[in-house]
Amino acid sequence: LNYQTARFLTSAPTLAKCPPDLGVEVAFAGRSNAGKSSAINALTQQKALARTSKTPGRTQLINFFGLANGEECRLVDLPGYGYAKVPEQVKLEWQRHLAEYLQERDSLRGLVLLMDVRHPLTEFDEMMLGWADDKDMPVRILLTKADKLKPGAAKNALHNVRGRLREWEDLVSVQLFSALKRQGVDEVHRQLDDWLLG
Ligand code: GDP
Repeated sequence: LNYQTARFLTSAPTLAKCPPDLGVEVAFAGRSNAGKSSAINALTQQKALARTSKTPGRTQLINFFGLANGEECRLVDLPGYGYAKVPEQVKLEWQRHLAEYLQERDSLRGLVLLMDVRHPLTEFDEMMLGWADDKDMPVRILLTKADKLKPGAAKNALHNVRGRLREWEDLVSVQLFSALKRQGVDEVHRQLDDWLLG
């Protein structure tokens, strides 16, 4: 698939407001600041498809991007979670919308879960993995900002995370990623092709 053709389609505050649940889509999730926007921009080779480093406001939206390949094929940017400065009530709302989306969305074929290579597998990341597991939804974990570590340290981080995910190894795969260095982009494209064309 040509990921450069990705174009913004629409935003939705809740599952009910999402575009029709037809065709296929892949969703991107992660803690705020994990590098999700930068990854989406790198994967689509666009500077500002997903905005980077935005300060999360009180509400967060699910953003849909369409790929021009004839079929209905979408990339979905889910709200970043774990932002410290939002009230507990708002966090619980986001959590509910994320869970609902993952549990109910039939066109969802796979989840890309982004984690800073220096702070992987937070409590909320594990909750996302639990929800994916409930649905037998395949997950690709991107250990982002890999350029921030020396190659040996990044490899160790990858190895550690793989070790901690052994119970989920049928559904979950892990790779290093750097939007800055475009490291791991081809690997992600192959995974997305598998899910969206498979
Ligand atoms: P989001 O909140 O998950 O969408 O994260 P952003 O994409 O906005 O990135 C958060 C911060 O990490 C920004 O300051 C980015 O410039 C930085 N960042 C993102 N990806 C990379 C990367 O691959 N390498 C480095 N060194 N910094 C990155």
